[in-house]
Amino acid sequence: MDWLAGLGLMWIEGRFLGIEWHAWKVVGWVGNAIFFSRFVVQWYATERLRRVVIPQAFWWLSLIGSLILLSYAIQRRDSVFIAGQAFSWIPYLRNLWIHRRNKSSQLTCPACSRVSPSDYRHCPKCGQVLSEASDKGGSDTGSVLAKGH
Ligand SMILES: [Zn+2]
Repeated sequence: MDWLAGLGLMWIEGRFLGIEWHAWKVVGWVGNAIFFSRFVVQWYATERLRRVVIPQAFWWLSLIGSLILLSYAIQRRDSVFIAGQAFSWIPYLRNLWIHRRNKSSQLTCPACSRVSPSDYRHCPKCGQVLSEASDKGGSDTGSVLAKGH
């Protein structure tokens, strides 16, 4: 059992893994875990689509993680840590706002559910006429590929 204690794998006098644990330490580590998980999410999304993408979840995890870390830093009264987290949430919030605004102006294909910019008249994946253009001439998918997008 001494070797477990030597590696810090036993709970001794409030310490585990060489870390002195208390409620705020748990808050700090949860913030760290959430903030780190954004890289996993972004990497997964990029590998899945085989191009560099930043999913909306990346900005949510960034925002939540940084606010938790900021609260921890304030509680610890660590000026370096506070300065590092004090303003980082602003671009995260701004990116979420822009993402939301863009999403509301996008069109979803009724046939394949692909999301396209609002100025697209046809789905680039399946050629379906998108909602705003469908009022004019019905679903003429033959001319879609010729026009392209
Ligand atoms: Zn489609």
